[in-house]
Amino acid sequence: MIRTIAFDADDTLWVNETYFRDAEDYFCNLLTDYVSFKECQKRLFDMEMRNLPLYGYGIKPFTLSLIECAIDITDGDVSSETITKIIDIGKEMLMAPVDVMKGVEKTLKTLSKKYRLVVATKGDLLDQERKLEKSGLSSYFHHIEVMSDKKPVNYTNLIQHLDIEPAAFLMIGNSLKSDVVPVLEIGGHAYHIPFHTTWAHEQIDFEVTHKQFKAFESVTQLLEVL
Ligand SMILES: [Mg+2]
Repeated sequence: MIRTIAFDADDTLWVNETYFRDAEDYFCNLLTDYVSFKECQKRLFDMEMRNLPLYGYGIKPFTLSLIECAIDITDGDVSSETITKIIDIGKEMLMAPVDVMKGVEKTLKTLSKKYRLVVATKGDLLDQERKLEKSGLSSYFHHIEVMSDKKPVNYTNLIQHLDIEPAAFLMIGNSLKSDVVPVLEIGGHAYHIPFHTTWAHEQIDFEVTHKQFKAFESVTQLLEVL
């Protein structure tokens, strides 16, 4: 019944969240003269949530939030030297190597012979295209969809674009909130493979139970059922 499989990219195909957490740690260490580490983390998260509707997801929005947060925390006292360090955090993230997760290539290679594979990711178009190129995984995918959000309406649009029924669509990803719940809601299948770190914004406080839902510990386990 499943004919098209969409993979989330960040923290499903390759490591992502770790870079954000490291950047956040570095950033908050720059501002310890003004606020505690914990307070800094909270202020940054609040800033990102405020900016999300306007900027969307990705490294560039994150960098803008870091700068705005530094100005806010220091009451405008932040030095141009610190701002430069913050801009460099973002640039380093954009230039970071792509660390493909263990077992991903083998799994994609096998699945691509039986299914149409696509990437369904949030984030910045240029950055995601760059990561896909660097990952060496492009050839396994028929289509790359960079989505402004992962709400049911966004998945409905993707499924219509792919010209399939929701029941023939399977989404695989690390976020229950973005990759699983909205897909089940529109009648698709969704499999969860958690990553060890989850951004607070992607966390949910309920358990998912659904006949079209499955959970796995690693990507290679997919080959046992698909
Ligand atoms: Mg993800």
